This record gives sequence, structure tokens and C-alpha cells, in this order.
Amino acid sequence: MGAAASYNLAKRGLRVLNVERFGVNNKSGSSHGRTRIIRLAYYEDQRYVPLLRRAYDGWRDVESKSGKKLLQVTGGLMIGREGGELVSGVLKSARAYGLPHEVLSSSEVEGRFGIFTLTGEYTGVYEKDAGILFAEESVRAFVGLGSEAGCEFRFSEEVRDWKSETEGIEVETSSGVQTAPKLVLCAGAWNGRLLRGLVPLQCERQVPFWFASAGEDFAPPKMPVFIMEEDKGVFYYGIPDVGHGVKVARSHGGLVSEPDRVKRDVTDEDIRPVRDFVSRRLKRLDGTPLASTTCIYSNTPDTNFAVGLHPADPRVVVMSACSGHGFKFASVLGEVAADLATEGKTAHDISFLSPARFGKERRGA
Ligand SMILES: Cc1cc2nc3c(=O)[nH]c(=O)nc-3n(C[C@H](O)[C@H](O)[C@H](O)COP(=O)(O)OP(=O)(O)OC[C@H]3O[C@@H](n4cnc5c(N)ncnc54)[C@H](O)[C@@H]3O)c2cc1C
Repeated sequence: MGAAASYNLAKRGLRVLNVERFGVNNKSGSSHGRTRIIRLAYYEDQRYVPLLRRAYDGWRDVESKSGKKLLQVTGGLMIGREGGELVSGVLKSARAYGLPHEVLSSSEVEGRFGIFTLTGEYTGVYEKDAGILFAEESVRAFVGLGSEAGCEFRFSEEVRDWKSETEGIEVETSSGVQTAPKLVLCAGAWNGRLLRGLVPLQCERQVPFWFASAGEDFAPPKMPVFIMEEDKGVFYYGIPDVGHGVKVARSHGGLVSEPDRVKRDVTDEDIRPVRDFVSRRLKRLDGTPLASTTCIYSNTPDTNFAVGLHPADPRVVVMSACSGHGFKFASVLGEVAADLATEGKTAHDISFLSPARFGKERRGA
């Protein structure tokens, strides 16, 4: 989010300083781990669909400007029980926006894709436009384009605090104090602290795994990205092999802690549920993972993002709390951040993402 916002601001001719505590694609936050899913028929809430349409255009634009391949369309399969959160949410968005989709029975899913083992009670919704974002390449592309546009990136420098002053926003970092007319806060799970409780954020540990591919059925174009709501509220997802194995993880259900205290070692307790899922649903994969990483979700109570002007000082833009589903939006939210910082408003409908919705308007600045 920070790299995307910086690029968009610098592109508009502003003097931009990006302060990052660690480095590009550091393994402490939420944006590493090679790949992310992008999809349009959004089960979480149909109000994200217009933002997603713009996000797809944005990714294509960044690809063409950077000369890097960032988005690979593979198709996406959402599997769950009819009437469950995933399937009903996807269908609601698809129908509301006329998005192309196909509804498949369990046996149709098994027949068409060959890699899944389902039982009779599941429904699949196939969306042809879903795919993979190369996450680390994307961050590098935003940083590269931002630098070319004149943004100064400072790594290994920490923002310690900020306050509103008449002449601007005073930001204290580990190497001094900066005053700027505008501040965009994109600190992921650490936004909770920097916003002093304005957005109640929960930092949840996640552990994705990579498994050895079992042939071309597990790579694009044959294997789509998928999400499966196996039981009510129990979600797993997978990304086909694009060079490092098949990525499979459980979404949510992780340990909650302070972002600086996330347990980084991966144990059998982390592996077990994912290995069991693989042995139930992706039987041809060898369930011994090749690799893993730890990553964090920054969850709001309603799992919608917190994006908008700070209610106590509209010179501060809040850009984060992506609740485990924000990466795909970076291309559009970078634009939104630039709109908010330069104009104080945006043409995109982000009213449902307001950081003031948690009722703590007076805290913060
Ligand atoms: C395992 C996993 C799978 C996911 N899958 C998907 C998916 O398939 N599709 C999707 O769209 N989304 C997905 N997400 C969510 C998505 O990756 C995140 O929403 C997104 O990457 C968040 O980006 P961010 O910039 O807000 O946070 P981060 O990437 O964490 O960036 C915040 C940055 O701020 C820096 N920082 C923090 N505090 C300070 C400070 N005081 N001073 C200076 N710098 C500071 C940190 O070092 C960090 O680099 C997934 C997330 C995880 C963890």
C-alpha cells in the first residue's frame, strides 16, 4: 500500500518521502510470500467490485509501465456449500454486476479440473477473470516506478510518532523529525499503534505452505486459483504452481498477537491442518511441504478495510487494515491515497471503508 501510494503521489508531481522500517518485501509484514489471488466476484461484499474493476486496469497499467509481468489470469474456483458465505457471496456479487461465472456441481468440478476430491454437497463457482498477482514483483514495480517519478524511499527507518501541528504533520522517525503538509499512514498491522486505537486492529498470524507439484494439472492453465469453504467459516485457498510449487493455506484461524511478537517458527501444529486438507481434497499432491512462511493479517472487527481521511485531522490519510484480502486492491488504493492526499476526496466509493466507523473519532491526531 505504501509503495503504491508513493508511486501515485510522485506521479502527480508531489514531493514524496516514503519511510519504511525494514526493507522492500521484508518478511515481517503482510505483502511477502510470492503470490496473491485476485478475483472480481467478491464474496466478502459486492461494494468492492467497482474498486476491483479499477484495480485490474491499474495492475495492467503498472505492468505496461514497469515492463514486468505482475498478473496472470488463471481462472478462479470458489467451492463451498450452497447458501454458505463463500458461494452465496460470490453469486451475489456476480449477479449484481453481471460478472461472467459458471455454477458447477461437485462432480462437474472433479471432472473438469481433475485435481480436486469433493463430496456431493459442494458447489463450485468458476470465474474466468480471477488469477495470480506476483506480489513481491509488484511491490518492486511500485518502488521502481515511484523512484523514477522522484519519490525518496528510506529503508531501515522507523516512524515513531506523529502529531498535528498548524504548519503541517510532524513525523518523528528514528533519524529525526520531518514536517509535511500531508501524511499517508500505510503501516499495515502497525497502523493500530500509529492510529492510537482509532481503528481496532487485530494482528493474526498466517502460515502458507508450498507443496511439490504433481504435473501439469497443478499449473496454469489447467489449475485455477481456488478458495474452499470446507465447513461453515473454515476457509482454505490454493494457488497453482508458477515455479515454486503449489501454494495452499488455511485462511484465518491463526494466533493473535502484537505485530512485533508474531511467532516466526513454523511447527507441526501449523502444518497439520493444511496437510490434512491436501490429503482430503488435493490427493495427488505429496503432503510434505517444500517451504512455508509466516505472514500477518491486520483484521478490523468487520473485516473491511480502513481507508479514508483521519476524522481528527483530514491532512492524514489512513490506508490499511486490509484484513487479509487487500493486496489485489493496491493498484486502486494507491490512486485513492493520492486522491485523498491531494484533493481531500476521491471519485471511488470508499464510504463503507471509513476509518471513523469504529466510533473512536476523537482519538488519534
Ligand atoms: C498469508 C497471506 C495471504 C494473503 N492472501 C491474499 C490474497 O490472496 N489476495 C489479496 O488480495 N490479499 C491477500 N492477503 C492480504 C494482503 O497481502 C495484505 O492485505 C496486504 O499485503 C497488506 O499490505 P500493507 O501495505 O497494508 O501491509 P504491509 O505489507 O505489512 O506493509 C506495511 C509496511 O509498513 C512498515 N511499517 C510498519 N510500521 C512502521 C513504522 N512505524 N515505521 C516505518 N515503517 C513501518 C512495515 O515494515 C511494512 O513493510 C494475504 C495476506 C497474507 C498474510
